[in-house]
Amino acid sequence: MTKIYDFDEGVLPEEEREKGLALLATCFKAARKIAFLTGAGVSTESGIPDFRSSTGIYNTTSEEIFSIDHFNRDPERFYSFFASFYRGIIEARPNAGHLAIAELERRCGKSVEVVTQNIDGLHGLAGSTKVHEIHGTLRSASCLTCERRYDESRFSADMLAGRVPKCDCGGVLKPDVVFYGEELPAAAFIASQRAMWETELLVVAGTSLQVYPAAGLPRECDAGVPFIVVNKTETPLDRQASLVFRGAIGDVLPRAVSQVPSVVTDDNDVR
Ligand SMILES: [Zn+2]
Repeated sequence: MTKIYDFDEGVLPEEEREKGLALLATCFKAARKIAFLTGAGVSTESGIPDFRSSTGIYNTTSEEIFSIDHFNRDPERFYSFFASFYRGIIEARPNAGHLAIAELERRCGKSVEVVTQNIDGLHGLAGSTKVHEIHGTLRSASCLTCERRYDESRFSADMLAGRVPKCDCGGVLKPDVVFYGEELPAAAFIASQRAMWETELLVVAGTSLQVYPAAGLPRECDAGVPFIVVNKTETPLDRQASLVFRGAIGDVLPRAVSQVPSVVTDDNDVR
């Protein structure tokens, strides 16, 4: 039976929670390569709504609006709907969970790869350098006519105003996120599989991995690779995990990462 460290107030004595955090820190120290697989739960802690949860935006909006057919048919309608959602994302900042993952990479001097289902770019903004965005990113957009790619400085103002952003060629720009009816970006997915093959520790954070093909990624890890779940609610993965933390990612991860000795010796190390 997997031990579950519940971080809800009053469920476990503080000593028990500390024990779990020390075990997680030991896993971080032992692994030469670490991979994170993150989902909406990491972003919701930055105030970004979850697409799929019961309180997510699909409750109020049709999934249809995020289909590629709809986008191609009526980009004006898509962008007029999308403006407020986009504003919520670009105003969001990395939270303690994003920062802890970036800090782990910085201080442990090891390979820390982040495979994420999130499209907000917050892992990169937090400072993680190896991020594989399997559902794409809102930080760039590409022309449907000539495929030219632009970064957000080009289209941000249009998107915020609910206008259709256009390419120099006059074509419509589409955010580089995976819409319903589109394939996942092959390069990011292949890089994610490779990260799973190579890792010595997998931390699944903020997702119950019910959406394929991302849900199949943990099975790409070698047998015997420790597998840790950090999520606010129970997940179907809990029983296979080595350790389960039921709590906010921004609560659990920083406390474990702070126990990993820093190998950074330059003047930038302020800790
Ligand atoms: Zn173009």
